Amino acid sequence: MSTAKDRDSLPGPKAQALMARDRLVTTPSYPRDYPFVMAKGRGAEVWDVDGNRYLDFMSGIGVCSTGHAHPLVVQAIKEAADDFLHISSDYWHERMTQLAERIAALNPVRGPAQVLICQSGTESVEGALKLARYVTGRPRFLGFLGGFHGRSMGSLAFTSSKYTQQSGFFPTMPGVTHVPYPNIYRPLLAGADQGMAVLDYIEKVLFQSNVPAREVAAILVEPLQGEGGYLVPPDSFLSGLRALCDRHGILLIFDEVQSGIGRTGRMFACEHWGVAPDIMTLAKGLASGLPLGLVVARRELMEKWQRGAHGNTFGGNPLCCAAALATLELVRNQYAANAAAVGEYFLGKLRLLQRQYQCIGDVRGKGLMIGMELVSDRESREPARELCAAVLTHAFHQGLLLLSCGQSTVRFIPPLMIDRSHVDEALERLQRALGAALAGP
Ligand code: PLP
Repeated sequence: MSTAKDRDSLPGPKAQALMARDRLVTTPSYPRDYPFVMAKGRGAEVWDVDGNRYLDFMSGIGVCSTGHAHPLVVQAIKEAADDFLHISSDYWHERMTQLAERIAALNPVRGPAQVLICQSGTESVEGALKLARYVTGRPRFLGFLGGFHGRSMGSLAFTSSKYTQQSGFFPTMPGVTHVPYPNIYRPLLAGADQGMAVLDYIEKVLFQSNVPAREVAAILVEPLQGEGGYLVPPDSFLSGLRALCDRHGILLIFDEVQSGIGRTGRMFACEHWGVAPDIMTLAKGLASGLPLGLVVARRELMEKWQRGAHGNTFGGNPLCCAAALATLELVRNQYAANAAAVGEYFLGKLRLLQRQYQCIGDVRGKGLMIGMELVSDRESREPARELCAAVLTHAFHQGLLLLSCGQSTVRFIPPLMIDRSHVDEALERLQRALGAALAGP
């Protein structure tokens, strides 16, 4: 294990050498926050190429749900690889059908479900949008400010957590209108209940003045907004949105790419509010690190797709399906409940920290999807963007991998298998990082 002195000189020599080679041949568009060069991972621990150990509280952007290289997941992948590597979604195989059965049995949507298997979050969103347009024959969509749904031309039309994601790419898919996501800490609209305020805005302003409700195919929303700042909506919001959709024959799409598969302490985040969508998108934590996305829809909707309406080459990859089957088993049996319990402990500890540090404006989240919003002062709630970036850098030097979200929110999205001792260790490192960041350069 490395010493504090080693960490001062991060990145180490091997990391520097690899980054120098990489710079010549890899796009600079990846938003890399700090120079972590991975060598190995086990559970919630990772090591860089110079042998430094880190606690991973970002899990590869919320992907390594069962921890790095969970033995049962690795075993499942190896067994699948011994059978065959690929056949494509134009054919059948046991693991693919089994995955669809397992997902359908979890009741992700209203009534019986069917799935379409793909490789990523953005591809699952594209599939959901195409399905909604196809079955309703309607051209428009509503999305939410602060939402993140991917970077291909359909999903990008909705993505709005940072303007840089859109910059230089217009026009994306036409027909998308954004409305505010209810933000309890930073209310945008008048009214004590921001959920109701947003619903009223859609119904009484948008539908009356600009967007004919009968032209809207679907509303795409993250049940708990991720990249936009880890915003937990008010309790009234999702059920109100469900009712609004039902009134107007609009489909409700929940993007659970980040919040799904046990992340929030339930299999799907929407279960916290007892609201089911017509279509759900999944990816990230679904296969513990292998690339897999799903469009899950009510069977009666999916059945409207004619042969050839949508498809892909790699969908249903047997290694990815095997990883997902093992992941689902672990999450269902242990890790969703663990995320709920350890997440509550973590939230409690962060709230104590909030009392100590004036710069922590808000702490929020569910399960192990937790945000800590940093502000320059608590009165004005001015986002402390530079402080947030500095905390990430110092946390890296303290041996803790973190991500940010929103304008100045530190996000915690560790593997779902962590226990309290991981949280305690992370908090020690976080406090040192906060101290260093507040002390300035
Ligand atoms: N939807 C949500 C809610 C996400 O958080 C993300 C990625 O962060 C995506 C979609 C896009 O997923 P991918 O990066 O796999 O395309």
